[in-house]
Amino acid sequence: NNIVAIVGRPNVGKSTLFNRLIQRREAIVDSVSGVTRDRNYGKSEWNGKEFSVIDTGGYVRGSDDVFEGEIRKQVELAIDEADVIIFVVDVEEGITPMDETVAKLLRKVTKPVLLAVNKVDNAMREKDAVEFYNLGLGEYFTFASISGSGTGDLLDALIEAFPEKPEVEVKEDLPRFAVVGRPNAGKSSFINALIGKDRYIVTDIAGTTRDAIDTKFDRFGFEFNLVDTAGIRRKAKVKEDLEFYSVMRSVRAIEHADICILVIDATRGFEGQDQSIFWLAEKNRKGVVILVNKWDLVEKDTMSTRDYEEKIKKELMPFTDVPILFVSALTKQRLLKALEATVQVFENRKQRISTSKFNEYMLKVIEAYPPPAMKGKYVKIKYCMQLPTQTPQFVFFANLPQYVKEPYKRYLENKIREKWDFAGVPIDIYIREK
Ligand code: GDP
Repeated sequence: NNIVAIVGRPNVGKSTLFNRLIQRREAIVDSVSGVTRDRNYGKSEWNGKEFSVIDTGGYVRGSDDVFEGEIRKQVELAIDEADVIIFVVDVEEGITPMDETVAKLLRKVTKPVLLAVNKVDNAMREKDAVEFYNLGLGEYFTFASISGSGTGDLLDALIEAFPEKPEVEVKEDLPRFAVVGRPNAGKSSFINALIGKDRYIVTDIAGTTRDAIDTKFDRFGFEFNLVDTAGIRRKAKVKEDLEFYSVMRSVRAIEHADICILVIDATRGFEGQDQSIFWLAEKNRKGVVILVNKWDLVEKDTMSTRDYEEKIKKELMPFTDVPILFVSALTKQRLLKALEATVQVFENRKQRISTSKFNEYMLKVIEAYPPPAMKGKYVKIKYCMQLPTQTPQFVFFANLPQYVKEPYKRYLENKIREKWDFAGVPIDIYIREK
């Protein structure tokens, strides 16, 4: 999956463009999951090609007096994380010193950069846009983010610019784990404790990009690929990063993984940044395991695991069926359990329920508590099945699908989770006309 980053100084229309790109898809995704948590990351598609979009400006406050350092960080993030960069400028304002700073950074980049000149909605401005050749980035695209004119051409060029990615041949169906979390949570300590000093590396498979590498490990009788990323390796640099940046650094790792091992710091709790990463994984329909690390530091009489777990689960609503383990990377407490739980989530995510078994159980469940009648009409569900998709998706065929509302879908999901083990795995429920 390709990642696109939108960069540029504040108030040039990055967010409008971002929203325009993700809108259509988000509308669909949100109506299914009912949650939107992140305004700076979204999925999009054009001409049947899917891609992810990062609005790297999301954290830079919308004032004009942004420090050059912040812009620099934003662009560096884009360079590290994205496959293609869209650099937005504003024809009304012309080239500003900040634009020049960004252009200077981007001129050194080998990744494709699309220069997009915003607010071009008439012939006059089309002429004015010529000045942007001076940025030294070559050909530019003109558009108007408010009306959307020109964005089609920009998107065409974007799709063209995606690098040809060598198909990574994943011969074995090994779990791909990404260890994610905010700086200092203990990710590196966990990885080191898990794989040992003498690294049980069997093979190195070059990933789809230069900075996402799957490394195969053989440990405690389990075989798995650890999704390593630039973000993990460059942790020293990440430490002082703003919240938003360290979340965005997880994007590639998450997209590349089957399961995300979210490491949180027990002494700090399940914070906003942890939550953002969690919803990023959920949104991408990845399996999730939460490790409450540094449990050795917590006074056990003041806080029991159960209280702690309850507190976290409140934040996970409605996706609360997630394994939460209390570990210590330092004392190596429950690390094997953590690995076992992760492998289990991987199995859960792959699980296929036979159509006959599924119907046998679910039709009884539905009979016991049918969808509420609406406008004097009864909703009947006579048949259901799991779809042959990568992540668990279930379809229920009804005579009046539009009458089956969100609470009832939740009920169905809960019943599925009661009967089968889908812990740590997001589930999709669809109601279709039979
Ligand atoms: P990362 O940024 O997420 O990779 O975090 P590190 O692995 O670098 O850990 C940050 C700090 O927390 C380091 O000083 C570790 O020694 C410490 N640390 C990590 N795990 C534990 C743990 O389980 N218990 C305690 N007491 N300290 C830990």
